[in-house]
Amino acid sequence: METHLPEALRATPEGREMERVLRACVHCGFCNAACPTYQLLGDETDGPRGRIYLMKAALEAGRAGPATRRHLDRCLGCLACEATCPSGVRYGRLLELARPRIETLAPTPAPQRLLRWLVRRAFARRGRAAAALAAGRLLRPLLPPALRRTLPPRPGPVPPWPGPRHRRRVLLPAGCVQSAAAPAIDTATARLLDGLGLSAVRPEGDGGCCGALSHHLGATGEARALARRNVRAWLPYVEAGAPLVLTASGCAAHVRAYGELLADDPALADGARQVAAAVRDPVELLEPHAARLRPAAGAPRRIACHEPCTQRHALGLAGRLEALLARVGFETVPVPEPHLCCGSAGAWSLLHPRLAGRLRARKLERLTAGTPEAIATANIGCLLHLAAAAPVPVRHWLELVSAG
Ligand code: SF4
Ligand code: SF4
Repeated sequence: METHLPEALRATPEGREMERVLRACVHCGFCNAACPTYQLLGDETDGPRGRIYLMKAALEAGRAGPATRRHLDRCLGCLACEATCPSGVRYGRLLELARPRIETLAPTPAPQRLLRWLVRRAFARRGRAAAALAAGRLLRPLLPPALRRTLPPRPGPVPPWPGPRHRRRVLLPAGCVQSAAAPAIDTATARLLDGLGLSAVRPEGDGGCCGALSHHLGATGEARALARRNVRAWLPYVEAGAPLVLTASGCAAHVRAYGELLADDPALADGARQVAAAVRDPVELLEPHAARLRPAAGAPRRIACHEPCTQRHALGLAGRLEALLARVGFETVPVPEPHLCCGSAGAWSLLHPRLAGRLRARKLERLTAGTPEAIATANIGCLLHLAAAAPVPVRHWLELVSAG
């Protein structure tokens, strides 16, 4: 694609990077077929190729209107387009670099800014996430129906975390929303790892949130601050050789990009790269141990696997979770169009509840086509979003597996 970015923009590293991405696009449109919002709305400007054009036009002219911002806001960031693109266009990186500039040209209206700020305040810290969920349960009757349905029930009793009896350590940060909404997931993971001779340890002094929520809501400064705090807290463990395991694939994908996020930080750029390189999705960590894994007592056996976009596209693990679950002994039912996003996408479902509901209905239709007993997934956002409307239980896969 021919580009004419202003000289002042081309003089910056970000400008040159955006130009490289734009020039790689040959406007073939293959990506549109994989895009959930294009499939739903059938509008070129709600697909990746159209959004690339919109970003190019805004960057070249130094002008953008509310329509440009709206079409970019509707992007889920699922990266299904990147996985389909024959030219290797880094759409996600382009969006990340262009968005703050377009925000200055066409600012988000005040009510939406307030909603984003509230979501960040409520959820991007561990203690606050727990308080926000407790308040939500108290005020449940007053909440909008979409939010009421997504609110998870109060977590039940959580079994004890195993003691650090093994020499081999795995760093397992607690995160924010998941540790408040479903603390049993990490405990089940720690117990599973313990059975394999690995002790899961919580790091001292991390920021709780990995920063993905802030990043996706456009608060880049806040996301960088959280990343810095986490890099400082996690680096000693990583330097001691511990893999960094995050049981929410959205967090794993975000932390794996810390190197890029803090590339211009003279004090922490190297540490951020080391931390990013230490990230292991639980699927990657457990694949070599598959022969020692089995379905946990009482776990449903016939399951549909919902691979989160962050695991499938951002981490590049398409098909690996389902293959692992089949090796462990589950009967996995076929799921048509596994690349389509469920509509959760971090806080996207809170900002676009109607579209998110339509994407969820479509996804659930495919997930339940093979009459599974349960749906297994790997990201707390997808889990809560799907569970709000699913006819069968939705579980984190790490709760369904044990070591024996
Ligand atoms: S598939 Fe790739 S090259 Fe083709 S239009 Fe989409 S982003 Fe551009
Ligand atoms: S990231 Fe997902 S929603 Fe956004 S343009 Fe690409 S495929 Fe469409």
